Parts: sequence; C-alpha cells; structure tokens
Amino acid sequence: MTHQMTDASQLSYRRYKDGDAKVTNWQDEIFQAGWSHKCPTYVHRTPPCQASCPSGHDIRGWLDIVRGVDKPPQGMSWQEYAFRKMTTANPFPAVMGRVCPAPCEDGCNRNEVEDHIGINSVEHYIGDWALANKLAFPKPAKESGKTVAVIGGGPAGLSAAYQLRKQGHAVTIFDEHAELGGMMRYGIPGYRTPRTVLDGEIARILDMGVTAKMKCRIGRDLSLAELEKAHDAIFWAIGTHSGRPLPVPGADAPNCITGVDFLRAFNQGRLKHVAQRIIVVGGGDTSIDVASVARRLGHITQVHDKDRVENVVLGQTAHDVAATARREGAQVVLTSLFPVEKMMAAEREVNDATREGVAIKGGIMPLEVLKGPDGRARGLKMCRCTMDGMNPIPEAGTEFEIEGDLIVSAIGQKGDLDGLEALDNGKGFINADKHFRVPGKPKHFVGGDIVRPHLLTTAIGHGSIAAEGIATFLAGGEFGKRPKVDVHHFNMIDTLREMGRAPERFAGEGIRGTDESKVAVHNYEDRSASEVVPADHLFLGHFTFTPRHKRDEIHIGADRVIGNFEERLVALAEERVVAEAKRCMSCGLCFECDNCLVFCPQTAVSRVKKSDRALGRYVETDYAKCIGCHICRDVCPSGYIQMGLGE
Ligand SMILES: Cc1cc2nc3c(=O)[nH]c(=O)nc-3n(C[C@H](O)[C@H](O)[C@H](O)COP(=O)(O)OP(=O)(O)OC[C@H]3O[C@@H](n4cnc5c(N)ncnc54)[C@H](O)[C@@H]3O)c2cc1C
Ligand code: SF4
Ligand code: SF4
Repeated sequence: MTHQMTDASQLSYRRYKDGDAKVTNWQDEIFQAGWSHKCPTYVHRTPPCQASCPSGHDIRGWLDIVRGVDKPPQGMSWQEYAFRKMTTANPFPAVMGRVCPAPCEDGCNRNEVEDHIGINSVEHYIGDWALANKLAFPKPAKESGKTVAVIGGGPAGLSAAYQLRKQGHAVTIFDEHAELGGMMRYGIPGYRTPRTVLDGEIARILDMGVTAKMKCRIGRDLSLAELEKAHDAIFWAIGTHSGRPLPVPGADAPNCITGVDFLRAFNQGRLKHVAQRIIVVGGGDTSIDVASVARRLGHITQVHDKDRVENVVLGQTAHDVAATARREGAQVVLTSLFPVEKMMAAEREVNDATREGVAIKGGIMPLEVLKGPDGRARGLKMCRCTMDGMNPIPEAGTEFEIEGDLIVSAIGQKGDLDGLEALDNGKGFINADKHFRVPGKPKHFVGGDIVRPHLLTTAIGHGSIAAEGIATFLAGGEFGKRPKVDVHHFNMIDTLREMGRAPERFAGEGIRGTDESKVAVHNYEDRSASEVVPADHLFLGHFTFTPRHKRDEIHIGADRVIGNFEERLVALAEERVVAEAKRCMSCGLCFECDNCLVFCPQTAVSRVKKSDRALGRYVETDYAKCIGCHICRDVCPSGYIQMGLGE
C-alpha cells in the first residue's frame, strides 16, 4: 500500500511504511479467544522523563494536574496543587524552570512522535505562579527533637534542609558566604537566575523554621569536632569552589584566573568591567557564563593597577561604579577541546553567547600561556586536537597563537577542603555510598558537586536521598536497598488511603486469589520502582502531530549587549501551559482516554464506580466476559495495560 502524503513531517505514527504491500491477517493476531487465559492487568511503570530527572520529579503527576486529569482538592487552585506535587521532590521550580538543561526532555517518549513535552516551561510557569501568589511550605506538625547541621547553603544543602525540616528535625545551615544559594547566586549570573526569584524560593525554605548561620566557614570558624558534638547528624554540601588552573606552562601568570573566581567577583558586585581581549578556556556552563558576563561588562581603556581584573577578582577590592559609564565592548574568545556542537554547555546558552558576540572555537587545546617581558600573559599558544574520550590528542603542525589581556580557565573545579582534610578522598572530593553517607562515618552524609559535579537538579536529588538516609539514621533504622528506579514515585495506595479506600490489611491465611477479597487493588501492579516504560509499549498512533508550545526568548545582539542584564527567557501564558501539558502521553499510567472501553468487543471493560476512582484507577475488567483478545492493550496509548494471568 502506498500513501500519498503531502507533508510527511506532519506524521506522528504510521503502522505501514511507504511500499509496504504484504497483507497482514489481523484476525489471527487478535482473536485467540478459544485458548487465551491472559486478561488485561494494569501495570504502573515510571515514565522516562521522571527516570531522567536527577531530582526524580513526578513529572507525569504534575502534568496530569495541569491538564485537568487529576483534580485539586476542594478550595485549591490547580496551580497550587501542581506546585505541591512538584515540590515534594524539588523546592526550586522557578529556578529549575529557567536554568535546568532538562535531561527529562531528552528522555521524554514524545520525542518519538514529534517533539518532547516542554516540561521545563511548565515548571517555570508553576514556579513563577507560586512566587507571585506567595505560596509557603507548611511548618512541621511536631518537632523530632533531633538536630542536623547542613554545611553549605547551595541547592544540595537547601534541598536536604527542606526535606529534613518537613519531618520536624531542627536544621542549621552553615555557609561561608554572606547569602544562601551557592552557585545559584555566586556562579550563575542574575540574568539567568534572577535574584528576586532565588530569594523567594530560598525564603520559603527558611520560613519553615530552618536556621542559617552565614559567613561561617566550617574548618576555620568552627571545627569538625565542635560540629559533631553539637549535632545528631551532619550533611556536607560544600560544592566545588576551587577552580582548576590551566595544566600548561605559564599558567602562573598573574592575569590567568579561574572562572569561578571571576564569576564570584562579578556576582558579589565587585567586578564592573573587564580587559579588552579575553580568552576563556572551557566549553561547559561556567565558561559560557564567564564569556557572556565579559561581553556584558565590556572594558575601559584607562586602567589603574588596582583596577586590573585579576586584582579585583583575587583581591577582594571593588571597581568604581562611575567607570562603567566609559565601557566599550570586550573581544571574547571561548575555546573548547570538543567541537562546538559537542560542547558540554546547554545548546541554548551556546547560541545566545554566539549571538551576543562571543567567538566560540571548538576542537582546539591550549599548549602554553605566552608571557610578555613584564611576566604577564599576552596570549595562548594553541593547536587543533581530536578527543579520545575526555583526553585531547594534539594534531602536530597545527599550532597557532591567540592574543589576550586576560585568560580565564573554566576547565573544572574541585572542593576547597582546607581544614576538612579528614573528609578528602585524596582528589578534592568526598566519597559517598548509595545512601549518600560518608563511608566509615555513620553520622556524616554528603551530596551535590562535592561528590560528583553535575547540575542543580542533581544536587537537589542528592539532598533529598541523603535526607531520607539521615532520617533513617536518626530513627535508628536499618539502611535497606535503594530502588533500581530511584525517584519520587506516585503511590496509588497513598491516594486511596487519603480517600479512606485503601486495601484492608492482609490477614495471611486461606486466601487464594484477590478478586473477591479487599486486600489488594484488583489486578493492579506497581512496578515503578524497577521498570521504566519505553515508547514501544505505547500506542503512539493515538497521538496526532502537535507542535510544542515554545517559550519566547529575548535575543540580544552583539551591539546591544554591554550593560544588558535583562532576563532572556519569557514564561508561557496559562492557556499555552495547559495546552502543552495536554501533549503528555502519560506514559505508564492511565489518563482516562476511554479507548479500552470503546474498543473492547466483549464490553468486558467498565469504569470503576465514581467513589472508588483515583488517578490510575479508572477502569476495571470483568474477567468472566474477557476473551483475552488484547485489543484493549493494543489501543492503550499510555502502555498501562499488560496481558497477564488475571483472576
Ligand atoms: C558558573 C556556573 C554555571 C552553572 N550553570 C548551571 C546551569 O545553568 N544549570 C544547572 O543545572 N547547573 C549549573 N551549574 C552547576 C550547579 O551550579 C551545581 O551543580 C550546583 O550548584 C551544585 O550544588 P551544591 O549545593 O553541591 O554546591 P554549591 O552550589 O557550590 O554550594 C555549596 C555551598 O557551600 C558553601 N561552602 C563551601 N565550603 C564551605 C565550608 N567549609 N563551610 C561553610 N560553607 C561552605 C559555599 O559557600 C556554597 O554556598 C553551574 C555551575 C557553575 C559554576
Ligand atoms: S528539574 Fe530539570 S530534569 Fe527535572 S523535571 Fe525539571 S527540568 Fe526536568
Ligand atoms: S509523554 Fe509525558 S509521561 Fe511520557 S515521557 Fe513525556 S512528559 Fe513523561
């Protein structure tokens, strides 16, 4: 059979490809009624979006709320209900919605239809709505009497503090900076994480009764021993604040600095302008932020010694604001070992930086910092390279020079463990077991970049799992296994319990089968802790081609970038957020489409009676009528039905 389609790009799913001519006898495929003992069972699995989110968000759950499948309790708006569900895993929806590179979207099954769900943009909208409507987290109902010290008030520390406080533990965060936020404040610039947004989301955690002791460095202002004596458990979330210098000769020149030091000085408001020609070596998030900030700051021609960038960055001095009136554009070159299309930084950030005038050069490696007679760097000797995994292989005979007045190394960081040597694993990091406990130190837990540098959402996920471990430790419980799919799972039994309809306690004796008894949810199985539902379990033909609702972006041209610190990403409006959530295919859980009801030739499928309905508990099968034809399974869009030996 040949289809005449005018616009093939509009197809979402095709059972037959062009040229398919073989006739399939569907009768044999479907009707096995005479002998099939298999009937539909309802199997909850984790959707791949959630499995790819390092903080384990119940994404399908909050999209179900936004699209109206899961209704809020009486008196609560859907936005608040979605916010409550979202923040069980991650208390920073407005920050995530802006700067999380959204690995969840790469994992989304809808990519197999036309494009992923705009998960991150829904998070952005809900996060902003919650701030605008001043939603607060509830204070714990009772105090546990236990005290936990959290060292470091970045995303990992704040996430753990939030989860622990929910359980009534007294939490004190110690941080060496003047303000909380870690790299969300001292790394990422304010045009990406606006400070009002950050302050609002942090204040919500503090308002639960979390104490913060700022400008207090553990290992200097307070010793490890003092800390241990005063607290029942300790969570280390100190991040990686020690930038790596370039591993080439000449990198000790005074005007060779690191990206984290550069950004800290900028975010503290001390750095107001930069040098005329800057070379940033990196390719990840930090290098893009350095280059983009440098383009925004520009340079001034008359520079006094004290105003040199390196003196401000390393010397705790500050630039004079008046000088900013005379700023001119800085020439910024960003170099990366990987080719541009394979750079670590998020694609959107790379595109913005290019548009804003950063010259990005991929596939090259530094060989030497070239110094002038005054001992200062005057440029970089570089060559072309290929990558063998993470190792650059230089290409002989391709050497060249780039001139620069400032060289910024943004090639990675490690922990600053001064005074905390007892925790150092010898490589500038702290080891963790699968519960995020420090091996051999029962009272100590650790998470975030200091274990493995990655993303904000990863640090938040670590904080949440560590908080579970700390709670187990404080209660004197046993540390069991972590689930294979380690996320914040939807639990139907909890929902039924809230409705007063949970299964009865299993008495044990004399039960054969569960269809008549009430000790289980009839023919429902929760495999979410061990299985992720792939796209080929879904009936993709149910979903028509629907383009993603994309957020608007404010693009800033190279000629307008100096002094422009405006946000670039515009949140979706309410109707578009709802429309976007409606694109979700609800992988692994029923979304009440009625296909199974409509297509069952035996009318064996019916809706569960209204008072017993819950999310995922919408239809049931009469096995006396079911002939095992598996049509319901074939037409279930979300892959929720599996033929099994039901009774
Ligand atoms: C420039 C830059 C841009 C980035 N952009 C993104 C992005 O767009 N998206 C994304 O998802 N991720 C991004 N990341 C990564 C992300 O910021 C980190 O993964 C995340 O912040 C790690 O969180 P953390 O809590 O482990 O550590 P941090 O955020 O580093 O917080 C650690 C805190 O511990 C404090 N501290 C350290 N030592 C001590 C001590 N001894 N005593 C007391 N306090 C101490 C520090 O002051 C700090 O506040 C970026 C990182 C950088 C550097
Ligand atoms: S935190 Fe990041 S990965 Fe997780 S749901 Fe949000 S955008 Fe996706
Ligand atoms: S379609 Fe929905 S449930 Fe499925 S992976 Fe994408 S966001 Fe998740």
